[in-house]
Amino acid sequence: MMSLSIDLHSHSTASDGTLSPSELILRASEKGVDVLALTDHDTTEGIEEAKSAAIRAGICLIPGVEVSVTWNAQVVHLVGLGVDPGNPSLQQGLATLRAFRDWRAEEIGRRLEKSGIAGSYEGARGYSNGRLISRTHFARFLVEKSYAPDTRKVFKRYLTRGNPGHVPGQWAALEEAVSWIVSAGGQAVLAHPARYNLTRTKLRRLIREFRDVGGEGIEVVSGSHSRDENFTMARHTMDFELKGSCGSDYHGPENPWTELGRLEPMPDGIKPVWSDWVQLQQAASA
Ligand code: AMP
Ligand code: MN
Ligand code: MN
Ligand code: MN
Repeated sequence: MMSLSIDLHSHSTASDGTLSPSELILRASEKGVDVLALTDHDTTEGIEEAKSAAIRAGICLIPGVEVSVTWNAQVVHLVGLGVDPGNPSLQQGLATLRAFRDWRAEEIGRRLEKSGIAGSYEGARGYSNGRLISRTHFARFLVEKSYAPDTRKVFKRYLTRGNPGHVPGQWAALEEAVSWIVSAGGQAVLAHPARYNLTRTKLRRLIREFRDVGGEGIEVVSGSHSRDENFTMARHTMDFELKGSCGSDYHGPENPWTELGRLEPMPDGIKPVWSDWVQLQQAASA
């Protein structure tokens, strides 16, 4: 059986990626990706365009979404894989998150204004091109205006807790987010679990609660994990009898440290989230 290149986490200009859905698909195809999930933050807006591009490029597109969740006063992300973008319960849920984003963006703008940074709301809107606004769009504007040398530093100095542009808020509840994904026929996957800076005990509590409300898998292999972190997350995945997913979390070519489809292999013993995807079994045995 030929092994497929599978990447189940990526972003387009529908959220905070810099490639349009069509450009993203083209790049995935150039990089030899066979199966790609488009998982924009809190929107499925890019999927229709990605679908047609994927047909032209001959790659398998998994319609997805990355849902923002607040768990225990902490932001965590769920990736929904194989969701039906037409599902009303999913769309109503995502709409509430985008409404919060709109308010939050204005509030970030007001707070930065008070600390002497003018025009950041308009600037971020420029980068978001009239679509959903993410903190990443603020970060790009602040880099443009030389407030920091790169977006990581903007997050560190301006946008995270304890800094002038930080706005606390409430995203979806864990159970709620899982239910939107599952109602839409998708599989709920806990995204990049090593990125939450949780203690081992807290992370395992999160994983247990996630599983108990219907979570199906964990992103074991992530573009934002080290190899060691992949193995640690594999261990948790097996302990809780969940499935494993893998995704680059690609946001665009300006982040050369991640590339579509460039992922460490799934550690042995992990049942992949795609284990019962009929389409894939056919493609792999062809
Ligand atoms: P938001 O959902 O609008 O709060 O923005 C979250 C996004 O910001 C994440 O999906 C990342 O793309 C980006 N991000 C978060 N933290 C950092 C960081 N420390 N450095 C660079 N980008 C970050
Ligand atoms: Mn992002
Ligand atoms: Mn994320
Ligand atoms: Mn992501």
